[in-house]
Amino acid sequence: MPNNSNVRSQNYCILRALQRCTHCTKPTPVLGVIVPAGHETLEADAEVSDRLSAADVWEIAPAGALLFFVEYVPFTVQNRLYELSQHYRFDHCEQAGQSLWMNHCSFCGKQIADFEVYCEPEGAFSPISPEKAASIQLHEVQEPFEAQAAGYSYAPDFLGYVQRSGGAAGARTLLRHNGKK
Ligand SMILES: [Zn+2]
Repeated sequence: MPNNSNVRSQNYCILRALQRCTHCTKPTPVLGVIVPAGHETLEADAEVSDRLSAADVWEIAPAGALLFFVEYVPFTVQNRLYELSQHYRFDHCEQAGQSLWMNHCSFCGKQIADFEVYCEPEGAFSPISPEKAASIQLHEVQEPFEAQAAGYSYAPDFLGYVQRSGGAAGARTLLRHNGKK
């Protein structure tokens, strides 16, 4: 896998929630990745067509972001994801026409498309109510992170409601700077 990372961070969080499989209709665990406020994104400079000559410009983001359409994560991150679900794995996505890190149903093994999980109103990581959001578990990983991801959702509203493992504080404090920036 080529490493063309466009997001990096000092730490990150893995989200875990249930998503109803469109094939067998059973609720199956799915994963998502969040990078907290202060993570960096590689700025694509439209005026610079020749990437080899362009100096990479990393910009610091003031809020957390949800990543999807993930094309690359390093092995250290892969291992952390695998600890939480063996059904989130690199696979060929017909709709996207390329290979991506994707959730799979733990019952029937079929792919669960990223847009269903992250973008649809009933998706596991686009909850429509605080109650739904509160069923999302958040696992903090205090290790460096990088990824190549085409999907980037800036500071999703539901983050203030998720269950943070090992602490009572809401995730909002982790994901948003209150002061400058
Ligand atoms: Zn299924």
